[in-house]
Amino acid sequence: MNQFNETHDTTLRSFVESANDGITDFPIQNLPFAVFRRADSGEVFRGCVAIGDQVLDLAMLARTSVLTGDAVEACEAAAEPTLNRLMAMGQPAWSALRLALSRALRTGSPHESVVRTCLISQRDVEYAVPAHIGDYTDFYTSVYHATNIGRLFRPDNPLLPNYKWVPIGYHGRASSVAVSGQTFPRPVGQILPPGASEPVLAPSKRMDYELELGIFIGQGNALGSRVTIARAESHVFGVCLLNDWSARDLQAWEYQPLGPFLSKSFATTISPWIVTLEALAPYRSAWTRNAHDPQPLPYLDSPENRELGAFDIQLEVLIETSVMREQAQPPQRLCLTSYRHAYWTLAQLVTHHTVNGCNLQPGDLLGTGTLSGPTATEAGALIELTAGGKQPVALTSGESRTFLEDGDAVILRAHCEKPGAIRIGFGQSSGRISPAVAL
Ligand code: CA
Repeated sequence: MNQFNETHDTTLRSFVESANDGITDFPIQNLPFAVFRRADSGEVFRGCVAIGDQVLDLAMLARTSVLTGDAVEACEAAAEPTLNRLMAMGQPAWSALRLALSRALRTGSPHESVVRTCLISQRDVEYAVPAHIGDYTDFYTSVYHATNIGRLFRPDNPLLPNYKWVPIGYHGRASSVAVSGQTFPRPVGQILPPGASEPVLAPSKRMDYELELGIFIGQGNALGSRVTIARAESHVFGVCLLNDWSARDLQAWEYQPLGPFLSKSFATTISPWIVTLEALAPYRSAWTRNAHDPQPLPYLDSPENRELGAFDIQLEVLIETSVMREQAQPPQRLCLTSYRHAYWTLAQLVTHHTVNGCNLQPGDLLGTGTLSGPTATEAGALIELTAGGKQPVALTSGESRTFLEDGDAVILRAHCEKPGAIRIGFGQSSGRISPAVAL
């Protein structure tokens, strides 16, 4: 687990003034990574870090003599069109680059004039999926979500007996993971109408979002080897926002016995920014397991995981309908919760994923599963907020929703703040549904 170091110093300020206003997602203590180019430029994508309202172009920085030592090779790797090579280099390289970038961007940096030539306004750039994602696995780590969903799908048996022993997951679809700004057509699929005995092929009528975090794997593990819980976090490059769009009517018909398939694989939207575990160090929290619940098997347990394995990341879902856009209304919040409520930690997910010898690779993406919290207003999906579509949510625009309609955009945001630490954020993940493609 990352210890505190000079990059976490709360007195640090940047010569990029917008990084110092106390409300930005991107102060100098954060320095999340993304892949970008100038908007509509046809340029090659390359890595960057966020600082205030700017991006620091790491390809341009790599061509200067600002960096020295281990940070040089890490910056060259980060200058590529995907971050996979940087991810593969491992935690010491990520940490060396973070330290060097922190020093280069500080007030009083001797390199200020050169570094300024590598800054581009975030208003003028576009982003890509930050890594080649070889494999995407989605977990189910909120016991509140699992219980709420289970109650809707199986009223008599909401939480299956394996849930409290094994981190449940399934293999998702990597090819349809896209970066914030994604628009996708409403999926079509097999649906069993209420009361019918045979399915029809139709556009989904029960489109939903899922509030999740995405965990990007850094260094992988060899096929046949396993990652111990003590080493698990050293294999994690960082964390992004993830919306696992879900067609509930397709899901209800197809999910037994092998789990979700076409109800999930049409689109997944992630934020451009990956916040490193090192940046999240001030926001670690204790992970606890109710004494009445089964305690984790030894391979999923450690004193360190119990002491600091959870992260207090504030998570938010907002909706913006076509009407809200036309009337210039701001998006409306649907949910506010925290990642600290997760039943399993990210270290436990990595360890469990590899316990059978499965090889994780740099750039692999793990979804946490919908991160619903303990109270009704902390539900991370519409199916929970509306009790399966029975209780519509009223919107400030005068509309209401049970499930999403064409033109609806869903925006995920996250940030961390507490006394004695600098607020950091994740930017946002925004995606929009367009009408179904005609059959
Ligand atoms: Ca999910």
